[in-house]
Amino acid sequence: MQVYLDNSATTKPYKEVVEAMIYALNERYENPSSMYRPAMEAEKMIENARLNIAKVIGAKKEEIFFTSGGTEANNTAIKGAAYLLKKRKNHIITTTIEHPSVLNAVMRLEAEGFKVSYIGVDVNGIVDLNEIKDKINDSTALISVMAVNNEIGSIQPIKDIGDIAKEKGVLFHVDAVQGYGKIVLDMRDLNVDLMSISGHKIHGPKGIGAIYIKRGVKIQPLLDGGGQEGNVRSGTENVPGIIGFGVAAEICHKNMDKYSDYMMTLKKRLWYGLKDNISDCFINGPDVEKGAPHILNISFVGVKGEVLLHALEEKGVYVSTGSACSSHKRGVSHVLKNLGLSDDRIESAIRFSLSPFNTCEEVDYTVNVLIDLVREYRKFYRR
Ligand SMILES: *Cc1c(COP(=O)(O)O)cnc(C)c1O
Repeated sequence: MQVYLDNSATTKPYKEVVEAMIYALNERYENPSSMYRPAMEAEKMIENARLNIAKVIGAKKEEIFFTSGGTEANNTAIKGAAYLLKKRKNHIITTTIEHPSVLNAVMRLEAEGFKVSYIGVDVNGIVDLNEIKDKINDSTALISVMAVNNEIGSIQPIKDIGDIAKEKGVLFHVDAVQGYGKIVLDMRDLNVDLMSISGHKIHGPKGIGAIYIKRGVKIQPLLDGGGQEGNVRSGTENVPGIIGFGVAAEICHKNMDKYSDYMMTLKKRLWYGLKDNISDCFINGPDVEKGAPHILNISFVGVKGEVLLHALEEKGVYVSTGSACSSHKRGVSHVLKNLGLSDDRIESAIRFSLSPFNTCEEVDYTVNVLIDLVREYRKFYRR
């Protein structure tokens, strides 16, 4: 059996996505900025995708700007806001558990002279609102906090942070790559100015993402060029990518409640299956029902995460330790470290991430494989 449980790293595209992209590549290759009819057809398809992507978060289509992915969306939002405001304001607030595309972007700004406050999290991976409030000063330009953490699935109080940001007149950016289409994020209820999303985390294609920019909010573009995407991101549009992303967003929007409930059912089945049969296994991050429906991070104390990952691979089960983006580098997860966990817990952590394609049979198979593997490997472990 092959069980793909690494959906936080990337997801399998829906077949409707692939079909729409094949059509786009074969038939809609014209430059959408050109003036003749087939090109205008490509442009129309882009605008339809933009609308479908906007709908998922209750945004207007004019507030969505395409980028090459979540990484570029985060860089553009954060640096673009910082550079525009830098004459008056040079302070940024973020958290210690952001994705590297946020952390490394703010560290770049820090090296360029910006001041950055890194807000810690509690053992559940949640920020303290009072700490954010306390750090805001007259020179604060931007707060950047992720909606859902990619390693542990903790969900931040985006509404409360937005309210604080608005009251203090500070821009608020949200990395919603892991939240978009999985938890409710409605721009009509949230005081969010900038939000990053990505196609390949919602069963769309890789290499396409977008920034939501609230109407009236301005940022400085990072690329100079032909002024496409409202001059937020120059460059000829990735038409197949945009169309594929749009189809994925449409499917996501239509099925969000159903898919989220289904993934939560699988997540609980996985957790209780493991907990009831394996001693000394612990959830890292929020309790099973409090976190995002698709992410479960568990430590099997006494067995190295990396060893378990490869043993699972032998059985056809694909998981991660920490995040895919940092897993090529040696060293411990900055997220688990910042939860304040012991080294034992951090070294033995495995991230399971689900999708609507997973089944109960796959979960049961994974539980059974893990019961055997953990027992086997723990024979060599002495506390
Ligand atoms: C995957 C991910 C990103 C990066 O998105 P890409 O489209 O792969 O560049 C950013 N933030 C989070 C939370 C992610 O999970």
